[in-house]
Amino acid sequence: MNDKAFESVIGLEVHAQLQTQSKIFCGCSTRFGDQPNSHTCPVCLGMPGVLPVINRKVVEFAIMTSLALHCEEIPPRSVFARKNYFYPDLPKGYQISQYESPLALRGSLEIPAGGNGLRKIGITRVHLEEDAGKLVHGEGADSGSSFVDLNRAGVPLMEIVSEPDLRTPEEAGDYLRRLAAILVYLGVCDGKMEEGSLRCDANVSVRRRGETALGVKTELKNMNSFKNVEKALAKEIQRQIALVSEGKKVVQETLLWDPDNEVTLPMRGKEEAHDYRYFPEPDLLPLVLENSWVEELKKKIPELPQEKADRFVRDLGLTRYDAEVLVAAKPVSDFFDETVKIHPEPKKVSNWVTGEFLRIYWAEGGGPVKMTPQNLARIIKMVDEGKISGLVGKKVLEESYKNGQDPEKIVQEQGLSQVSDESALIGIIDEVIKDSPKEVERFKSGEEKLLQFLTGQVMKKSKGKANPKRVGELLKSRLGK
Ligand code: ADP
Ligand code: MG
Ligand code: ZN
Repeated sequence: MNDKAFESVIGLEVHAQLQTQSKIFCGCSTRFGDQPNSHTCPVCLGMPGVLPVINRKVVEFAIMTSLALHCEEIPPRSVFARKNYFYPDLPKGYQISQYESPLALRGSLEIPAGGNGLRKIGITRVHLEEDAGKLVHGEGADSGSSFVDLNRAGVPLMEIVSEPDLRTPEEAGDYLRRLAAILVYLGVCDGKMEEGSLRCDANVSVRRRGETALGVKTELKNMNSFKNVEKALAKEIQRQIALVSEGKKVVQETLLWDPDNEVTLPMRGKEEAHDYRYFPEPDLLPLVLENSWVEELKKKIPELPQEKADRFVRDLGLTRYDAEVLVAAKPVSDFFDETVKIHPEPKKVSNWVTGEFLRIYWAEGGGPVKMTPQNLARIIKMVDEGKISGLVGKKVLEESYKNGQDPEKIVQEQGLSQVSDESALIGIIDEVIKDSPKEVERFKSGEEKLLQFLTGQVMKKSKGKANPKRVGELLKSRLGK
């Protein structure tokens, strides 16, 4: 089998849970994690005789997203539709969605394409719909029973459908991460795949290179992380190429990703063989958007990740790579911006933030930055002025991040100031010389690079407090060089 003879074609359908206080068609709270069925009313319980009312904020969020995704068309009139199917978590027996007349059409999103290049991925449509409830399967004494929690029923979802423009699992991952970042910058969704507030169905097919017609696709569901989307796609592409290479045919079907065994499994039975019998929702008027409102919302769009990265490259002289790393998480890029205002050396600040800072940030769970820009600026200054070594600087950063303490105070209380004084260093230097006779010999006989090793040993023994430059000088003079 020759994989190179084939290319894969991928299109993503993304559902984003919108961060509104109340549901899409009633006033119930969207809050997560409360007592089951505590956020319900006759509307989201699907009682007969009630009428849905559209949440203005939901429409506002969807318009802002459509603008941010450069949608060429946000029609002045869109229509809600009933999508009919039976499932116990859907009390009405239909989901209110949009079908033939979605909220927005023909947008795009740029992904990296090698070097400094970017490639445009088409966006087919953006539309609104309501979420369904959740089934909870009983355990212990309740095993065998299932329960319905309707807190999530009616939570607003925005669906963003891409064109089949993506060509590799990595591109699909890039597209998803970038889309998530845009939604987070806009403040419309928290972008967390792990928590289900961002969900992705991945459609994939393969074809021989050079062919233009699309192959038969399968649809992958149930991937709850960016990494899993990439893994599931890679596995499925392999499977399809193997089939086609053997002269067999890919069957159009929906597959579920099993993250524990890293395989895709066909969905049971005919669950997916739906005929949704869509028709316009008679309980809601068509959604009419006044142009003045759309124009007003245009002004509310903040600086988006792409623009921010461009600014970092253009105005602050960062590399494209560093700029992209910084803008991936909004709180981090904001923190970087603020720190540069206080300590106007962008490249230096970027090195600190993309290095040690990011490591600690993610180790501490991400989210809002738990440190002030002033404190990072103080640490960088102390290192620059030689008051502490770079190594100690990293340690102070970690402590200051974890407990919010003033970096100068940490240095003072723990006696971390850099030591350059000969009398304080000479003891450690002599110890290292005594403990490393082989390395000392090699250095003496001309192997210059051993100086680095010996300096490193002194740094370790001094717990990072020794001034490395001074240690190097003292080592040389001690060893008669
Ligand atoms: P369906 O009606 O099965 O939902 P759509 O035409 O609405 O299919 O497309 C759903 C998603 O699948 C879109 O993101 C689209 O880009 C993608 N897609 C459609 N056809 C293919 C194909 N042959 N290979 C890969 N992706 C595809
Ligand atoms: Mg589909
Ligand atoms: Zn309700």
